[in-house]
Amino acid sequence: MHNLSIKELSEGLKAKRFSSRELTQHHLDRIARHDWALNSFITVTPERAMAQAAAADAQLAAGAGGPLTGIPLAQKDIFCTRGVKTSCGSKMLDRFVAPYDATIVEKLDAAGMVMLGKANMDEFAMGSSNETSWHGAVRNPWNPGRVPGGSSGGSAAAVAAGLAPAATATDTGGSIRQPAALTNLTGIKPTYGRVSRYGMIAFASSLDQAGVLARSAQDAAYVLQAMAGFDPRDSTSVDCPVDDYPAALDKPLRGLRIGLPDEFFAEGLEPGVRSCVEGAIKKLWELGAEFENVSLPNMPLSVPTYYVVAPAEASSNLARFDGVRYGHRADNAASLEELYKRSRGEGFGAEVQRRIMIGTYVLSHGYYDAYYLKAQKVRRLIYDDFKRAFASVDLVLGPTAQNVAFRLGDKGDDPVAMYLNDIYTIAANLAGIPALSMPCGFHDGLPVGVQLMGNFFDEARMLNVAHQYQQATDWHKRRPPGFE
Ligand code: GLN
Repeated sequence: MHNLSIKELSEGLKAKRFSSRELTQHHLDRIARHDWALNSFITVTPERAMAQAAAADAQLAAGAGGPLTGIPLAQKDIFCTRGVKTSCGSKMLDRFVAPYDATIVEKLDAAGMVMLGKANMDEFAMGSSNETSWHGAVRNPWNPGRVPGGSSGGSAAAVAAGLAPAATATDTGGSIRQPAALTNLTGIKPTYGRVSRYGMIAFASSLDQAGVLARSAQDAAYVLQAMAGFDPRDSTSVDCPVDDYPAALDKPLRGLRIGLPDEFFAEGLEPGVRSCVEGAIKKLWELGAEFENVSLPNMPLSVPTYYVVAPAEASSNLARFDGVRYGHRADNAASLEELYKRSRGEGFGAEVQRRIMIGTYVLSHGYYDAYYLKAQKVRRLIYDDFKRAFASVDLVLGPTAQNVAFRLGDKGDDPVAMYLNDIYTIAANLAGIPALSMPCGFHDGLPVGVQLMGNFFDEARMLNVAHQYQQATDWHKRRPPGFE
């Protein structure tokens, strides 16, 4: 059952070949059997899951329900879930039980999906390897000595290992696409504003966007359909109609124009990764796509720009965790100042503290103009680069990551090496455009991802291209040994 697509699962449920309770129990059993080796869940919620599954079965028995009714999924622990611990991978929130549901949690519940539990993640979504979680590192099912990518590494490992059919995830600078690439999944980060951020714990508010990790573009299309849409509770949510993603999947690719930016194929790209991406280009060409070179000259500035903007926003967002209102509170503080200092010092891990310090620095008087304001200007230039590219092409294609999954601990003491991992993913967040990663081969036995970046609200086209590619290839069907 854990190898079936969401569409097949839905057909199986409707035809009564199995019930949602059986399907849910099957995944809970797989979590119990395998997750000790992966650490992909922070919290498993079997009672909530079985109650939701029973409700789904009742709906299905009455001939009701939609394409997601009764299908299990994992929620990244960044989304508030009423009555369930929502830790955001941090000691700071380890005892926080959310009093309300995030909009996407409400929406997926309403679509009949069954929440299996809360997926592990880098602390406050800061990381590229899922090694900064207070709950311990997540391991890559393709090789447990390797990282699964971050920050949505728990979501990715769970789906890749067949512990959940799909998972929610978030992407501030690559945290959906990079784990997708490293674990052989399809991951989509929608346009900024397409999916509500209400109830999603904020890291860098102008960059954060929720999306999906799934085993195919078709699976991702179904889940994204249920998540997308305007939310009056999120002032940055965009009020424009949502396309029918599953209906758009079957369009042939003839005439599609894809741009190849030189900057994505420059120095630093591992040759084994490059040849897989070139294989994907050839296959898409055979399917009818046309290619041309484009230039995104400011793309190399995206990492330094992001690592000013994101920490600046993080330092402001994380100011709310002061030990007074909620979150970790230090014992026996003698003064208010000591309470703040010790609560934050004890509650936040090293990477989060580093971001808060950088962010506070770039926002402080005297440095604001030199760093923060300058970064905002460069951000605009990066956006303009994409705008220019989309005047001549429909999509832009490049690798998702420079390398395959690296060893746990390999980049632990070198934050800059870790930040450089995001070189191909960050520009899309700075520009606000949608981007998707899909499997395109293996190098050294580890998965490689290819990335599609689209114009604003062009998610349907990106899923369409990925689906057509997946009809002609079987990379996405490979499963990690031991988890088949
Ligand atoms: N790796 C990036 C960071 O550490 C992006 C993380 C994300 O997308 N949440 O900030």
